[in-house]
Amino acid sequence: MAFAELALGQIRSLRQTAIPRNYEIWYVYATGYNPQLNKVINETLARNGKLTEADLEQIYETYLSHIKTTDRIDKVGARVIGEIDDVMLLIDEALDMSTTYSESLSGVSKKLAAAIDRDQLKKVVDTLVTTTRDMRETTKALEARLALSKAEISNLQHSLEAIRAESLTDPLTGLGNRKYFDRSLEAAVANALETGEPLSLLMFDIDYFKSFNDSYGHLTGDQVLRLVGMSLKQSIKGQDITARYGGEEFAVVLPNTALRQALTVADHIRRAVMSKELKKKSTGEILGRVTISVGVSMLKPGDDMDSLIERADACLYAAKRAGRNRVVCEADPEYAAETRGQVA
Ligand code: GH3
Ligand code: MG
Ligand code: MG
Repeated sequence: MAFAELALGQIRSLRQTAIPRNYEIWYVYATGYNPQLNKVINETLARNGKLTEADLEQIYETYLSHIKTTDRIDKVGARVIGEIDDVMLLIDEALDMSTTYSESLSGVSKKLAAAIDRDQLKKVVDTLVTTTRDMRETTKALEARLALSKAEISNLQHSLEAIRAESLTDPLTGLGNRKYFDRSLEAAVANALETGEPLSLLMFDIDYFKSFNDSYGHLTGDQVLRLVGMSLKQSIKGQDITARYGGEEFAVVLPNTALRQALTVADHIRRAVMSKELKKKSTGEILGRVTISVGVSMLKPGDDMDSLIERADACLYAAKRAGRNRVVCEADPEYAAETRGQVA
């Protein structure tokens, strides 16, 4: 009740509409269970004194959608268990039915052998017809229920597929999440080692993003993350894999791509991000541009997923040290300087 009252109080004092979405936002806020959500709300309120409809929508989508996923997993899980129970019952019934039927058939066969006149024979045949008709009816009912089960199971399959896809997607950018990245890279590395095809990895980090957030707020920062995600999506093709690796870090896996081509892709993405002038949606205020630094590594014999990531990361670090807004790969002097520095 205390949480509910707090939530309603916020809705009232901020003059928001009393719709379930807003109630959920403020209820979660009141519980304090989702510190990220509280942080972004406090920050936005401190900055603007209010939350716009767009702010609320974005907060809801970003911070509360994963709760929905868990709910849905629960619900679908319960339905799967329910459906399995039903089907098990059907199977038991069918087994009982066929035992009874075969027992009555063997009874009939004994009676047939003993039948001495027309009347007795007719009785035996009548029983046979009745039992068979019963069996046919039950089979029909069973078939109908199995058809329903089949439809329900197919629905469940779709729900599970959707949840599975959602569990591998970063809700803010729509790119793959870290789990998706780990899985995809592992498979790509295994495949490249087996086929001998080249494989490259790009790791990105937005330059001075902390100060961008500090000047314009976390929600605007989130918009920029979406924009960078979009630039990424537009710059890659086919079997390339993109993911949000962490907060403002992204990764691209390029199967069947050697270092030179990978550098071209990396620079294309760097330019695409840089070319976009950022404008605040609500006010039209021009926020300038953001740049990214990129580290590029290519798979070599003896590598595994971790060593490939480590080298791309070291290149990214070298790119930052060399002044940011640039692409550095293992063949570059900046990287050599970086690793020398580490040894010394
Ligand atoms: P550098 O050029 O060295 O990368 O400087 P930086 O300020 O970007 O430094 P760093 O990469 O260490 O900072 C990460 C910052 O990114 C911290 C935080 O403010 C911001 N950030 C991380 N995740 C998110 C997110 O989900 N949303 C928003 N808006 N900002 C985020
Ligand atoms: Mg970072
Ligand atoms: Mg950064």
